[in-house]
Order: sequence, then structure tokens, then C-alpha cells
Amino acid sequence: MKNPIVAYLDDKLKRFDPIWMAENGTGGQRTRYYDRTGVAKYREWRGVKDTMFDYVSWLNNLLAMGKMVASAPIPVMKGFWEYRWMGSFLGTFMFIDRLFEGYRDQELRVAHTQMHGIVVSLTKRIAYILSHDRRLGASQEKSEKLVPIDEVLPELFMTGFPDLYPVPLQTLPEFIICDVDQHIEPYYIDVAESFGLPADVCSRCAAETGVALDDAFPLVGKALISTNMPCNASEATSMFQRRRLAMPDYQATLAMIHNEPEALPYSREIMKETIAFVEEQYNTKFDWNHFFKHAKLMNEQNTFELEKWDYMKTPYSAEVGISETLYKLYEWQSVNGTDPMFNKIDRKVMKRLRKCYENKYEPFGGKTRHRAFLWGPSAVYYTDFPTWCQNCWGIAIVLNMDSTMGHNMINTEDPEIALDDLTRLTEKACMRHMAVGGWDNINSVWEWAHNFNCDMVLMNDNIACKGMLGVHAVMEEQARELGFYFIFVEHDLEDSRTVSRQNMRDCVNQYMSIVMGEEPLDPTIVTFDDSDAY
Ligand code: SF4
Repeated sequence: MKNPIVAYLDDKLKRFDPIWMAENGTGGQRTRYYDRTGVAKYREWRGVKDTMFDYVSWLNNLLAMGKMVASAPIPVMKGFWEYRWMGSFLGTFMFIDRLFEGYRDQELRVAHTQMHGIVVSLTKRIAYILSHDRRLGASQEKSEKLVPIDEVLPELFMTGFPDLYPVPLQTLPEFIICDVDQHIEPYYIDVAESFGLPADVCSRCAAETGVALDDAFPLVGKALISTNMPCNASEATSMFQRRRLAMPDYQATLAMIHNEPEALPYSREIMKETIAFVEEQYNTKFDWNHFFKHAKLMNEQNTFELEKWDYMKTPYSAEVGISETLYKLYEWQSVNGTDPMFNKIDRKVMKRLRKCYENKYEPFGGKTRHRAFLWGPSAVYYTDFPTWCQNCWGIAIVLNMDSTMGHNMINTEDPEIALDDLTRLTEKACMRHMAVGGWDNINSVWEWAHNFNCDMVLMNDNIACKGMLGVHAVMEEQARELGFYFIFVEHDLEDSRTVSRQNMRDCVNQYMSIVMGEEPLDPTIVTFDDSDAY
């Protein structure tokens, strides 16, 4: 039962709610923005309670940023001075505001609870890394407790070294920040190309190479773990990075076709060698008991994830869209059992999700028209693509490919069995699993879509991903045979100059209007210019 004052205010002020405006032809989500930018003239009005909740969440995120600066003021200031990518983190607030446009009630609460966890974790990590960065004046001794590892390797195995701090090397200057700011990675891509790197390689790999050549990786640790994951382009960028960083390194080359049981003994050996390399270089010993403690946290994460999937198969899940995909991506790739705070967040969110399911709560006011499985990497984040799909066309992104990474349980008693499990978890990493890990994995998109009761598949078409370009026509044929609505969304991953945000949106616009003959829910966001936005 609504408080009568709140009900009165909600009724009086509803004309400022962009969803109401779109329904009544007086505006919509884009109305409150300055043209070409991501700068809003005022915050989104969502009714009294949701607007207050959203605003307090915004303040909490601001507080986390403030704590980061207060915990290491000089390294953070030096970081802003030294690294171009640090400035892009200031766009985080606009990024989060855009991500959760149109979110109300339960989905808004789930989204902010999860996002705040990411902000807290990330800000702590930035402060810690910068204060151990030799480029910014940290001593060799202080910095040597940190171990740079390729971000595609999940960190769980590093919990066996409680005296060391793993740093997923590319996460800060490239992987996370390209989601927040569409303008940052083109600079690093240009640096790489000005050194002679061809312009037709994957922009993620080009950007990583550019970061290395621009000396924009924090300088920490005394030995590096690189990898061949996800693909051959990544192998190349690993080589450029190891040359530039000039540290002893071990390349964890896990089997490409990892579903075949014969591949496991090989990849298991690589995991063993990776651990042995850290032991030797950092003069330490792997502690299985400590590892088991964190494997239990990872198992709990995965248990919750599997339960979430059951709710997500129904219309009654408040875990949906970009909130689901971004949280899962961060929790899997960057947390991976290393931080109990995320288990607490999961427990809290699960309680809410269970309740929503019991009460048959439908997110977005039940206005969803289509349920889609999204097969999309970074370009879907800086475009806040799932949110836009929902708000513009009523397409709910039920699950993204990033959410299907390793979800097997890890044995927490026997090191020999645990090593097998750890290998299975590690090799199903971001993009390795879904893009280049063998035909079975790519082809499983239909099974995922079917199991999650989707009528639609949105498949991102990275114009420079050599592995995936080969399967383009085959996917089209299969979609037709299996009866899914199927949209290829072209993009150039981290280079928004080649394929703009609007170009990506137009792939959906054209399909929805020409093929499906549907009208948008919000006409103000069908075509708009946000080329200058973060
Ligand atoms: S998008 Fe393709 S080429 Fe680029 S890293 Fe991923 S799998 Fe490799």
C-alpha cells in the first residue's frame, strides 16, 4: 500500500517521468540530454521512492570514489597526471546513470546493489595498484608483492598465494574503462598503428598493444603471467606486452578446443606450470588450504548463478539486462572467489530475486515484448545496449554470452581433483569459451536461447574478429532453420569511430521496423546523436 503523500506526489510529477512521457507523446529518455552528449540536464524522474533510492545510490558511489582518493591521495593524483585512462574513470557516474535508465522498483535495487559492489571493488583496486606503481614512485620492494597476470585468466588460482596480490593487468587501462568511455581506446589504437600495427586487427588487442607502447600499464611486480586466451590476436598482443614490460614471463597457453576431454591433461599441466612459475619467481609456496577457502567462495558464487538462471528463464526475474551481464562479467573475471564482499552481495540479491519470483514480479512494468539471448562483448557496454534495447523496443536481454563462462564447482579437499576443476574453470574464460573455443561452444547459442525461453538472438558481429567472421552466414542459416528472430549487430569492439553507437542501434532499428513491423516504445531514442558522450 502506497503512502498517500507519495502517491499524490507521484501522480502530480508523473509528467516528468520519461516512460510516461514516451507513452503520452510528450518526450522520452533522450529529452533530458544535451544534444550529441551524455550530459543530462536533470536526473531521471522515476517517482518519489525510486528517484530517492537512485540518488542515494549515486551518492554512495561518489563516497566510494572519495574514499579511493582519501586512501592514497598522492598516488591517485599522480595517476591522473600520468595515465590518460585515469581521467576516463570520471565518466563512471554518467555511465551508471545511462545503464539504469528506465529501471524501476526491484530491478533498480538489484542493479544498484550489484553496481555499488563493482564501484567499491574497483576503486579500492585502483588506489592499491597506483600506490604500488613504480612509475609513480613506489619502491621496487613494495611493488614486488603484486603479480601482473593477463586479465583473461581468472584470478582464483592466485588465492593459493595469500602473500601476493594479483593484478589483472589490462583491466584498468583497457577492459573496464573501454566500457565507460568510448573515446579512450581509439587513442591507444592509434598509438599501436603509428608503430606499424596493421589497422585491421581486433581493436581490443590493438588497444592493449597501444597501452603497452604508450607505457600506460602500471609498473608492478617482478614477473608476469601472460596467456594465449582468448585467441590468436591475443597471443600477438601478449608478445608485444611482454617485450615492452621486459619482465620474466610465463605464457599460460591453455587448449583452444577445451571441450574435448583429451585437452584437459594438457591444460592441467599448464596450470601446474603457471603455479610453479609464481612459486619460483616470487620465492613462495602454493597454499592449498588458502586456495580451498576461496574455492568455496567461488562455488557459492556459481551456486547462486545457477539458481539465478532458473529465475531468468521466467518472466519474473529482477536480474536482467545490463545489470545481469556487467555484474556477472566483473564477478567472474575480476573477483572469482577472491572477495567475500561479493558473496554478501549475492546473498542479498538472491533474497530479493526469490521474493520477486514468488510474487510474480515482472520488471520494466511488464512491457517486455521479446526475450533475447545476447552474444556480445565490450561494445554492448559503452553503448548501454541492453538498456537501450529494452527502453526503445521492449527487447529484454535475458542473458549475455559473458555470463556463460566457467561455472563448474571446484573440489575443496583434494588438490589433484581441484587442479582438474580449476583448469576447467580457467579455460572457459571470456571470449575463449564463446568465440574461439570450438564450434560446439559457438553453436550452443541456440541451446542457450532455447533454454532461457528467448524468441530472439542478438549476435554481435565484430568486424575485425577473424575467428568469428567465418561463421557469419552459417549462423544466419541456422537462425532461419530454428525459427529465431536473429539480428547481427555490427561493431568494431573498442573503436567506436568505425561503427558508431548509432550504427549499432540502427541494426536493431531496421530489423524491428522493417522485418517485424513494430513501433518503438520510446521514439526519442530511435535515432539520436551521442557521438560526443563518454
Ligand atoms: S573479439 Fe575476437 S579477435 Fe578480438 S579478442 Fe575476442 S576473440 Fe580475439
